[in-house]
Amino acid sequence: MTKKDIVSYDHEELIQEIKDLGERDYRGKQIYAWLHKRGARSFAEMTDISKSLRDRLEEEYEIAALDMAARQISKTDPTEKFLFGLSDGNQVESVLMRHPYGSSVCVSSQVGCRMGCRFCASAIGGLVRDLTVSEMLGQVYQIQKITGERVSHIVVMGTGEPLDNYDNFVKFIHMASDKHGLNISQRNITASTCGIVPGIRRLAEEGLQITLALSLHGSSQEKRKSLMPVAARYDLEEVLEACDYYFEKTGRRVTFEYSLIAGANDSDEDVKGLTAILKPRKFHLNLIPVNPVKERGFQNPGSKKAQEFENKLEKNGINVTIRRERGADIDGACGQLRRRYASGKEEK
Ligand code: SAH
Repeated sequence: MTKKDIVSYDHEELIQEIKDLGERDYRGKQIYAWLHKRGARSFAEMTDISKSLRDRLEEEYEIAALDMAARQISKTDPTEKFLFGLSDGNQVESVLMRHPYGSSVCVSSQVGCRMGCRFCASAIGGLVRDLTVSEMLGQVYQIQKITGERVSHIVVMGTGEPLDNYDNFVKFIHMASDKHGLNISQRNITASTCGIVPGIRRLAEEGLQITLALSLHGSSQEKRKSLMPVAARYDLEEVLEACDYYFEKTGRRVTFEYSLIAGANDSDEDVKGLTAILKPRKFHLNLIPVNPVKERGFQNPGSKKAQEFENKLEKNGINVTIRRERGADIDGACGQLRRRYASGKEEK
């Protein structure tokens, strides 16, 4: 019999589940707190639960834990990257970034990714599988446990496309922000998408307060299509309308992300295109000078060029910043997370 993944049950579901075993409501609440607040990784730790119930839980449920396979600490900034082993032998990476306002974890949503963006390491090798809710939560729980530090922010910007794993992703957001668990404010959670239009529209209806980030990367439909295969499915115009809809429904401004690539999307024509997109929207634009991915060969335009690009946009009245890169020396920066084989070696 395969055991049920107890960490993926939300508060209500767990209470019901434990009730179905003939227990009272508060038992479910206690167990939920052990799993999601107190970081228990075994039923044996749940000392205020009777031995007979613990044995019963042990038989039917598992607390799927993520094993830390590697930990890399950046020498240039207070950033660490973790490689976690999953119960089926797959692995995912997560990044911890410390800021003056708190610490954020960059969570992966899938093993691999099928979106195929040309500049991104996560796309190499395609999609292996979706992550479960407990595997997404587990990345944050384990990092808190390993470092002994409290995580205050989450960015779903690791490997994978969250809107391609929609149900698990949304449940993860609910559980990470639930006061019975991690209790991270939804306003401190950002999720990034490559632009899956039906997913953005559906997300707009969920009543969440998270920030949506859109990976834009092209200043026109043609340019975007040359960098991101997903743009062939969803036209830029449609994507922008979906972002407007997200803003309309949630009152949360969308952030646009733009990886600056030398000779590909850093010309004056791109400044013009971006201005036309952003001016009427007043959304924020985040420039990310492209990070090196050895198989990809795209060139970073350099900080001077990036600065000029930013200045030109600013002059046009665009709300723009250059994202300070973190963890590039440990391949922990945007677009550098990738699948690895169980040996821990980089996938070739
Ligand atoms: N699938 C989602 C989540 C990934 S978030 C998405 O596409 O948005 C990671 C961010 O880093 C995305 O904006 C992605 O486009 C960007 N990125 C990917 N490769 C990069 C690279 N080599 N340099 C800089 N940013 C990159």
